[in-house]
Amino acid sequence: MSVCLWCLEKVEDSLSFANLFYRNVMPRQMCDHCYSQLKPVSKETVKCAGCEKMSEDDLCLDCRKWKKTYPEYDFKHRSLFYYNEFAKAYMKKYKVMGDCELSSLFALELKAHLGPLSKQSRIIPIPISQGSKQTRGFNQVELLLDSAEIPYIRALENVGQGEKQSKKNKADRMETQQPFILETEMESLVTGASVLLVDDLYTTGRTLFHAADVLKQYSPKRIETFSLFR
Ligand SMILES: [Zn+2]
Ligand SMILES: [Zn+2]
Repeated sequence: MSVCLWCLEKVEDSLSFANLFYRNVMPRQMCDHCYSQLKPVSKETVKCAGCEKMSEDDLCLDCRKWKKTYPEYDFKHRSLFYYNEFAKAYMKKYKVMGDCELSSLFALELKAHLGPLSKQSRIIPIPISQGSKQTRGFNQVELLLDSAEIPYIRALENVGQGEKQSKKNKADRMETQQPFILETEMESLVTGASVLLVDDLYTTGRTLFHAADVLKQYSPKRIETFSLFR
């Protein structure tokens, strides 16, 4: 019996998909009550085919804009949960306030989704800037993967300085140049491989598109993208 990392209540065994398959592998760290406050991205959700944003259109405005910039891409972004109030509160405590123990809250769900994918694709977490590393002390995406025991490679480096994303407006964020480079010794791991770029949150898609754009120069077989929240 484990304790919910969010509300500290006892976690009962539940019949969720992730729990059924992985309860013998790692303890569940979130209680049913907390889980019920999340909004999973499911087959039934009405959403954009490109990025899973809740949308009546087949492709949302952001995706249509990206399509003009990157016409050759056929991105089908996947996420686990929508960025609702619970997710925002989580990200504030985990990422902004730096409570790194919370990296395990979604371990079971991430393991269930990314575990099988990690056998066929190289998992590449989005790197954070040196500034963020200094203030937070950890890469929140890598820590999520560590907690879920998902193997990954640190292929990209974030060399950008600039202002914080959150201080920019949406138009600025979509225009900003990409701050990523591929580590030279990782080139051979990317060429010809299926890669899955992983981020914590998909906002405009800019971060993942720019990371994909860097990887693309090294001719991977396929690039897919994933984020915990959408
Ligand atoms: Zn709870
Ligand atoms: Zn979209």
